[in-house]
Amino acid sequence: MAAHESQAESWLMDAWRGLDERERAVLTLVRQGRTYGAIARIHDVSRARVGQIVKTARASLFEAAMAAKHLWWDGLDELIAGSVSVHDDDLADYFVDPVGTARYSVLLGLKLEHPNTCAGRLDNFWTREPDGLAMRLRSLSDRGPYRMDELAGRAADMGIPAAVPTESLLTHENGPMERIGELLVRRRRRQADLLYLWLVEEGQARSATYIAEEFGREPHALAELMRRDSRFRLRRPESTWELAEWPDDGARTYAGAMDVVLEIVTERGPIAKRELVRETMARYQVTYARVHQCLIDYRIGHISGQRDLIDLVSRGAVPNEEAEPRRPLTAVIDDTGTILGFRLRVQRELLRGCSVAIDRWVTWTLGLRQSPKTRSFTCGELGDRPLKFTRNTSVAQMSTIKDYAESHGMKIGCEITVLLRLREGTAQLMHACATGECPGQRM
Ligand SMILES: [Zn+2]
Repeated sequence: MAAHESQAESWLMDAWRGLDERERAVLTLVRQGRTYGAIARIHDVSRARVGQIVKTARASLFEAAMAAKHLWWDGLDELIAGSVSVHDDDLADYFVDPVGTARYSVLLGLKLEHPNTCAGRLDNFWTREPDGLAMRLRSLSDRGPYRMDELAGRAADMGIPAAVPTESLLTHENGPMERIGELLVRRRRRQADLLYLWLVEEGQARSATYIAEEFGREPHALAELMRRDSRFRLRRPESTWELAEWPDDGARTYAGAMDVVLEIVTERGPIAKRELVRETMARYQVTYARVHQCLIDYRIGHISGQRDLIDLVSRGAVPNEEAEPRRPLTAVIDDTGTILGFRLRVQRELLRGCSVAIDRWVTWTLGLRQSPKTRSFTCGELGDRPLKFTRNTSVAQMSTIKDYAESHGMKIGCEITVLLRLREGTAQLMHACATGECPGQRM
């Protein structure tokens, strides 16, 4: 291993050091995207001369690479054949070059390219199929909408590597999708996608009036929208809207996805996770993400040493814990891990007195890694009532703070900071709107 590494390390850097100073400078400028004309002015030579320098320097790096072929050929082949886009860091194991310019020159020589996407070329990735990633992103968007927590799984199913910044590409200003809270919807079908995801979560038919109330829109306009979209179906004689993908007989006897998961694990456990997801989706209209959420229920676990084999905790399985979610930009924890803060935007539901959906990272950090679990904090702003955090299989939430928001004159769009002192078990709420930007103070 050490011998391999030092050999791997030496050949490319040796070849790079073998170039003269001007050759290295020119290749660096090319990689930075400077034109031959600009480089010619910097080095006070003709543009044709720059072309020659580039050609000669690249040729000698390429020659060194071919001489060391036994060190990288198979590895590179496997990476490139196995993935629609390979991150530059992954190629750095074979083409060791701390700065990356020599590696860049060799990879170009090997006819590798950067993938094209709706957000432009991805300079950190390499491929033999420059439009392959864009095609997969388009298919991913066509199959939307998604909840954020199912995006990674769906992207992986589509063959998009985890290193690709899928969300930011899809939601780029030229991209096809838009993120709204924890949902990712198609721009062109924004309203219908939101309705669709909402009905998936509701899990039952609803009247247009009820839906309109939820969305703050006209019932007639919403009914029209659903009539024109084949994903929705009007149920007679109740006159309620449901999803066309639901069974038509109205005989859905399960109370929820959790019931189905328990039934299948009881019947067939230990069962492979993939098989459980497939079987649950076959018996019950439920999303991929929802099935995964059910796995953190306290009754469900995995066989010791085999994370992908699911069984009942009552039969000796080890309880599953939620994996650490990515920390959202709106939340922080101090270095000692004892003070946690996060920001919330006031929404209609909050002002109605509902529980407030919060990021799963917060409940995870509070140690709520199975479902159901609750943790309470005393909170001066709420008087005698504690601020309670709960992790259910479907959502992470915080008890109502309606009274606090109302007594501070907050409106939809206001910001609240929640500060939790984990050691003391205390919570503090703060109205955090910037001066002059508080919707509650606008007349
Ligand atoms: Zn405010």
